[in-house]
Amino acid sequence: MFATTIAGSLPKPKWLAEPAKLWPQWRLAGDALATGKRDATLLALQLQEEAGIDVVTDGEQARQHFVHGFLERVDGIDFTNKVEIGIRDNRYKAMVPRVVAPLRLRGRVHAEEARHARAHTRRLLKFTLPGPMTIVDTLADEYYGDRVEMAFAFARLLNEESRALAADGVDVIQFDEPAFNVYMQDVQSWGIDALHVAIENLACPSAVHICYGYGIKANSDWKATLGAAWRQYEQIFPALASSRIAQVSVECRNANVPPDLLGLLVGKDVHIGAIDVATDTVESAEDVAATIEAALKFVPREKVIASTNCGMAPMRADIAAAKLMALGAGAALARRRFA
Ligand code: ZN
Repeated sequence: MFATTIAGSLPKPKWLAEPAKLWPQWRLAGDALATGKRDATLLALQLQEEAGIDVVTDGEQARQHFVHGFLERVDGIDFTNKVEIGIRDNRYKAMVPRVVAPLRLRGRVHAEEARHARAHTRRLLKFTLPGPMTIVDTLADEYYGDRVEMAFAFARLLNEESRALAADGVDVIQFDEPAFNVYMQDVQSWGIDALHVAIENLACPSAVHICYGYGIKANSDWKATLGAAWRQYEQIFPALASSRIAQVSVECRNANVPPDLLGLLVGKDVHIGAIDVATDTVESAEDVAATIEAALKFVPREKVIASTNCGMAPMRADIAAAKLMALGAGAALARRRFA
């Protein structure tokens, strides 16, 4: 009961990449970079195991960014001449690559880090990929001219890589879809259908992570405009409940999400975000247990998985580590208290 996981990313060591940045520059190159990514992945696994995290990830140590890490191995994308666009309905500006030709995988995307992680942990291994809607929201299209058609093209590539990751020994594939909280109508009309393409014939369970974003200023400013009750989930959870996605990862800690909305995810395993990644204040085990307790009013206990609100990539490493320890300790406390 109350297994623990993390949304996905952890801060990278300072010797590997610039700290505290969403699009950090690598500090190594060539063979040294490849070795550095492997070493950082081992450290990320070790940290999670020490904290008592049950379903671990590679900490996304081998990719520069949660979306563009996947795109780097896709033909048809030009990374050399990036353009600035407004993303997430123009919430913030980003320099993004351009789609200039038909999309095709150049081979495996994440085989190396998945197999490396699999070889070095006996825990359940979750692997994160960007979801189709979030991908098309984080690049510039100069070829397809149709956002939905392009999303399905990416969904087919994600399916190819997901099935290969499952064959590598990955236990859960999670698609990150922060865009689901922005384009709620699109989620119902094609977003979930695109995820279904991504999980076709997948041999392991799938999850979708839907949050209010990393703890960066643009996101905090946006949240401040959302009012006293954040009801975005209400528009998409019923459709997710009837989807073939097995698990849904949501933001709860310090979020103005009405907790009863969790009750809409009937039949799903729900990853309860019990760690706020937008503040350096470290939760106590009691705080984590309290977030789990609030969720238990609306989610059956055997369906509750304790997690973080979002990825920790841009956080300070020592604070992220302390928050992971709190997550593990808080879930253990909840197990004793609510068993
Ligand atoms: Zn997130």
